[in-house]
Amino acid sequence: MKVPFVDLKRQYISIKDEIDTGINNVLENTQFILGENVAAFEEEFAHYCGAKYAIGVASGSDALTLSLKALGIGEGDEVITVPNTFIATVDAISRNNAKPVFVDIDPETYNIDVTKITEKITEKTKAIIPVHLYGQPTDMDPILKIAEEYNLKVIEDACQSHGAEYKNKRVGSLGDVGCFSFYPGKNLGAYGDGGIIVTNKFEMAEKIKMLRNYGQRVKYYHDFIGFNSRLDEVQAMILRKKLKYMDKWNGMRKSHASEYEELLNDLPDVTLPSEQNDRTHVYHLYVIQSPKRDALQKWLSSNGIATGIHYPVPIHLQQAYRELGYQEGDFPVTEEYAKNILSLPMFPELTTDEVNYVCQRVKEFI
Ligand SMILES: *Cc1c(COP(=O)(O)O)cnc(C)c1O
Repeated sequence: MKVPFVDLKRQYISIKDEIDTGINNVLENTQFILGENVAAFEEEFAHYCGAKYAIGVASGSDALTLSLKALGIGEGDEVITVPNTFIATVDAISRNNAKPVFVDIDPETYNIDVTKITEKITEKTKAIIPVHLYGQPTDMDPILKIAEEYNLKVIEDACQSHGAEYKNKRVGSLGDVGCFSFYPGKNLGAYGDGGIIVTNKFEMAEKIKMLRNYGQRVKYYHDFIGFNSRLDEVQAMILRKKLKYMDKWNGMRKSHASEYEELLNDLPDVTLPSEQNDRTHVYHLYVIQSPKRDALQKWLSSNGIATGIHYPVPIHLQQAYRELGYQEGDFPVTEEYAKNILSLPMFPELTTDEVNYVCQRVKEFI
């Protein structure tokens, strides 16, 4: 048996008619930029998140970059985030000429350790970017409290957690802004690049709408230097169709997580992801830990099972961030995890047979 890490084809097949017809309609309509599908999807996605506004942009990276810019973060400012994330979280800070400041992760949730934030705050700190990694919300209440006390902005990186809830509220709607990616493999994925920013603040929504569209409110009248960063009409149409299945697909991910949990629960030397009582986990990734990670990955691969490592090199040890001057040992939890983590196959259309096969092979290895 061969088990792919992700198989996007299975999902496409299940909604092929709807998607093909929809794409055809956009082609016939020929309104390719900021048309009716983008406007409708923005409304539908804002509603889905329980937020007032949503602004479609070209990618999750741009969602983060434009959000920071709209919040006035730039040269000389510091922004707090985690070293255990996808590089795009941190690049967005650097692209605005601000300085990323890292806080280690909590061993239980893999997200920012909220007890270690205040010690990193200086008079230059302007914002915190909690990353809801792998599909599990960060503990937001302590972060919002710190933000209020120190007058900081909160930008949620929700690129891996569409639909996840913290105390019955959807992520993305909790901070000043929430950023999502529609990269094809994400829980809500387009058939190309795409992203969106969600906010409850009218002024933020207006500013971001101008930023994504050459700094203009009225065509050819430019109030400031902006970007060309728009969600395109074909992708918006695809995302509208797919949003209807979001909760169902997240439910399928969760049931695979339960199957993994049931079958791998008692194994020595294997740590499974944990869920917190006050949040839901939407399992963008199913990440386990093993001290023999590399050998386990090789064994699974030789048995036809594709796995991933998210992420093998923490951001503070990446070549691109050498200049920040961090060293090995600065964030011990993140560094230890980077050596032990392994992402098992996870996508809604995975079958129970496939999960069983993966677990059987993991057991054999142990
Ligand atoms: C995918 C991702 C991004 C970037 O999104 P793109 O659409 O690929 O630019 C940012 N942060 C996290 C945590 C991600 O997983």
